[in-house]
Amino acid sequence: MITHSFFGTNIAVLYHMLNTYQFRAYPNTGHKDFFAQHFGCTRKVYNHFLGEHEQDYKDSQKPWNFYEYKRELPALKEQFPFLKEVNSQSLQAAVQNLDRAYKSFFARRTKHPRFKSKHHKQSFCVPQNTKVDFERGLVFIPKLKTGIKCKFHRRFEGTIKQATIAKTQNGEYYISITVEEPDMAQKMQHTLDEAKAIGIDVGLLSFLTLSDGTKVDNPRWLKQSEKKLARLHRKLSKKIKGSKNRNKQRLKVAKQHQKVSNQRKDFQHKLSRKIVDDNQVGMIFVEDLNVRGLLKNRKLAKHISSVAWGQFLRFLEYKAHRAGKFFGKIGRFEPSSKMCHVCGHINHDLDLSERTWQCPHCLSVLDRDINAAINIRNIGLHTAGIAEIHACREETPTVEPSVLQQVTSLKQEARHFNGE
Ligand SMILES: [Zn+2]
Repeated sequence: MITHSFFGTNIAVLYHMLNTYQFRAYPNTGHKDFFAQHFGCTRKVYNHFLGEHEQDYKDSQKPWNFYEYKRELPALKEQFPFLKEVNSQSLQAAVQNLDRAYKSFFARRTKHPRFKSKHHKQSFCVPQNTKVDFERGLVFIPKLKTGIKCKFHRRFEGTIKQATIAKTQNGEYYISITVEEPDMAQKMQHTLDEAKAIGIDVGLLSFLTLSDGTKVDNPRWLKQSEKKLARLHRKLSKKIKGSKNRNKQRLKVAKQHQKVSNQRKDFQHKLSRKIVDDNQVGMIFVEDLNVRGLLKNRKLAKHISSVAWGQFLRFLEYKAHRAGKFFGKIGRFEPSSKMCHVCGHINHDLDLSERTWQCPHCLSVLDRDINAAINIRNIGLHTAGIAEIHACREETPTVEPSVLQQVTSLKQEARHFNGE
């Protein structure tokens, strides 16, 4: 059922768009010392509570309790007075990061939290009061009297929610700023239109297929560069360890790797831009591939394509958000390629190597990828409460909680609007 009031103005209030912008930073010596102090102190706090909980769990199977550990922070500061010299909110954020790491572990999304080492990438979070001066190219954070020089490749409007300062292993500094951009939400009301929804399926043969039948392949130049990379890799494995030639070859591989990665980014930026800028596209639905599962796949081709797909989705998502368009992920489930989009029949005998198949129920001839893209679009619309799909589906697809939550609150609001 299409609820027309669903497209009402109340969506503007509900849809908070958080975007993160990353900028290269050029701190002076004073800033660097300040950062080093914060990296060290937040790492200390993180590792301290990680260790404490490990022990608590070993001793008495005590479950993780964020609030309880957070309450211990003042006592920890008494024990280690150097912690008092840094922004206390950054220390609290460190406990929060650990909380997030544990929750993600409990939800089986990531591995068990690990102790942070000073030899890896360093970072700390500034939860409040970050200010940006685009004119002078400076970022101001609490407790630091002078601004940090930054290269702003783009500007943003809205409320700054938090900032993260990071130092990479090769000594570069970056500031990530998370911004709530409210005006994006107002554009959103124009885009929730069934006719403007597309589904995208990803495959190994073509890079992606749209529900309107468009197929996009990886460009030839990218494939050639990938082939060259594989060739250089093979050569490298034949060189004797520790030899001069091996080092030379390793440099070549690294260079080609960078080239492939840049070329792929370029292609994906252009492609995602094209999809998002299309006037006929207002809502984009994709299948949330289990990237972690795919990464374990030993087959290199699959590995590369899954990494590429994950990156493409990130590009597509943030571009869609910035353009005020709807972006939804549907959970992984079998029928997206096995279900006939015309009648809803699920063809359990379908061999996934078949490029086209005929539905035994309604006799439609279906292109495997286009059929999957259409199903992704229909299920996306269905879970967004905008359209009905065939009732004879056997399995209920799962939707990412964040999407579902937004959708449910939108629906409730719509109902309220209707006076129900
Ligand atoms: Zn059918």
